[in-house]
Amino acid sequence: MSRAFNFCAGPAALPEAVLKQAQQDLVDWHGRGCSVMEMSHRGADFVSIAEQAEQDLRDLLAIPSNYKVLFLQGGASQQFAQVPMNLLAGKASADYVCTGVWSEKAIAEAKKFGGVNVVATDVANNFRAVPAFADWQLDKNAAYLHYTPNETIHGVEYDFIPQVDVPLVADYSSSILSEPLDVSKFGLIYAGAQKNIGPAGIVVVIVREDLLGHMMPGMPTMLDYAVAAKNSSMYNTPPTYSWYLSGLVFQWLKAQGGLEAMATLNARKAAKLYSTIDTSDFYANPVAIANRSRMNVPFTLADANLDKTFLKEAEALQLLNLAGHRSVGGMRASLYNAVSEAAVDALIDFMGDFERRYG
Ligand SMILES: *Cc1c(COP(=O)(O)O)cnc(C)c1O
Repeated sequence: MSRAFNFCAGPAALPEAVLKQAQQDLVDWHGRGCSVMEMSHRGADFVSIAEQAEQDLRDLLAIPSNYKVLFLQGGASQQFAQVPMNLLAGKASADYVCTGVWSEKAIAEAKKFGGVNVVATDVANNFRAVPAFADWQLDKNAAYLHYTPNETIHGVEYDFIPQVDVPLVADYSSSILSEPLDVSKFGLIYAGAQKNIGPAGIVVVIVREDLLGHMMPGMPTMLDYAVAAKNSSMYNTPPTYSWYLSGLVFQWLKAQGGLEAMATLNARKAAKLYSTIDTSDFYANPVAIANRSRMNVPFTLADANLDKTFLKEAEALQLLNLAGHRSVGGMRASLYNAVSEAAVDALIDFMGDFERRYG
């Protein structure tokens, strides 16, 4: 059996070494006679797995000690609600930047809990760029500013971290751990695991301690960050196996040389693919150069009638999940940490060959 090259946007490829480690541990973890899935989350073994995962993540991102790291459920989509519930803290509204589908969803959900001031939107431009920071209509009384550093569907990535006076909140679901990050610039960062961390079923929240404890009255206990923090993310049974697998990914990242090494590799992978697209009249990507995502590369073929053939031939060559999101069409190659440079090279070879035959 051979492993295909998987360009899925999420749930995405995991490092083969991590899967092999999980396979080795599956039936009998460290001679305990049971799998991680069958352990009490309160037992010393699972607590050690959980604590190690948190420490490795703290090491990778150099997370300052005044931040809590939470391992929660409900995916990034639940954070769209949980953020305003916890951070509006009696204020009338929060600021949001709209750069794509995921921003739109976060905005729609936040409106259920308070006022939303959309400080800038690229919707009229079909989400092809990040609006210039100088033009943002910021509210100095906002509870926080929310933005999406990498729009997974449109392939739009910020080339800057906004500097604002209110707490900065970021949906880092599709680009966390792709490069070093100065966590101290943020009030809160959240990321669903299934793109660049681990399997689905877990979402990581990194939150500055002073933002805890301001939950709106009447909200579910389970959604209070302060409760999760106080209980080390074990107020109820956490998704133990996803937590364990995420921990294996963190160890793998450390073994690769950490986030500096990933940043270099990710930049090289993306540059190669964009260069292939830009030097051809057959492939195209509409995103402003400065805002092209390193993680998700959407592209179209000159003739959309060839899309099905492209996908079919790619699949025959073990190049999987290249169809674009149903809302934008075309193709999308996701190049997360676990997607090797060899995978990108194979894709580029195929694209060149396909163009020669059909272009
Ligand atoms: C995938 C994704 C989401 C949604 O994640 P779920 O875990 O499925 O809720 C939200 N934001 C971004 C940027 C994403 O890429």
